[in-house]
Amino acid sequence: MNSGKIDEQGLIQQLLPSTRIVVLTGAGISAESGIPTFRDAQDGLWSQFRPEDLASPEGFRKNPKLVFDWYAWRRNKVLEARPNSGHQILAAWEQQFPHLTLITQNVDGLHQAAGSQQVIEMHGSIHRLVCMRQRHPSPWVEAADTVPLCALCASQLRPDVVWFGEMLDRGILQRIGRALAQCDVFIAVGTSGLVYPAAGFLDEARHAGALTVVINKEKVGEDRVDLLLQGSASEILQRLQSSWNQRSQGMDSPG
Ligand code: NAD
Repeated sequence: MNSGKIDEQGLIQQLLPSTRIVVLTGAGISAESGIPTFRDAQDGLWSQFRPEDLASPEGFRKNPKLVFDWYAWRRNKVLEARPNSGHQILAAWEQQFPHLTLITQNVDGLHQAAGSQQVIEMHGSIHRLVCMRQRHPSPWVEAADTVPLCALCASQLRPDVVWFGEMLDRGILQRIGRALAQCDVFIAVGTSGLVYPAAGFLDEARHAGALTVVINKEKVGEDRVDLLLQGSASEILQRLQSSWNQRSQGMDSPG
């Protein structure tokens, strides 16, 4: 399914080794690895809490152990998960398209587990901790009765992720801005387009003249993208990859 401005074959023809591609991924790409999206994650034990209480500086100050335990639970889910073929194809794209910029809103590390080496983790990583006072980095430590403390300044350790109400790293935003300003093709995979600033990237790329593509289970952004590919992220990426392979084999063969 597409918005009619370009079809899937038209997209494949645009994907040359020289094409500057920006891919933005969200929770949907990891859903097929069994990682719940943000709101799905609030099942059972956690359903009585609001996301803002579990993922904000205020929530952490009010009840640090609760927040730490919630992240420890999520991290354990992530450690049990494996990257899926969607992550793997994007890892292969790093070799296939030397001008690829892969940006993720996910904190699960599954792109790296699939082999991607240059991932912009705009919302941080669930696998790292930083301290509250100075943001000293720390590897993951389990909480006992209280949350662990920083070895350098003794302030509380928290997950190295961006919470509601927190600013994104300015250097990361500048890198993303540069990539968007120069990109030829922008592809958003498995993201609802509700969480800013990522929600604005598609329009930024469009204004820079890029072809814009959305891959999503739902009809996201159909009125403003050049191509909406509706369905499972891994299936669509596999389909794109096999069309791309066929096309490049055809180009290599004589005649
Ligand atoms: P979201 O939960 O708001 O939206 C997920 C999107 O993915 C939806 O539009 C849904 O239709 C789509 N989707 C679900 N399954 C899909 C599939 N199999 N194939 C294609 N599309 C699918 O997620 P978001 O837009 O990333 O924003 C939520 C915030 O929560 C982000 O900031 C993110 O950091 C965070 N988060 C991260 C993780 C993770 O690290 N895996 C998980 C949950 C939430």
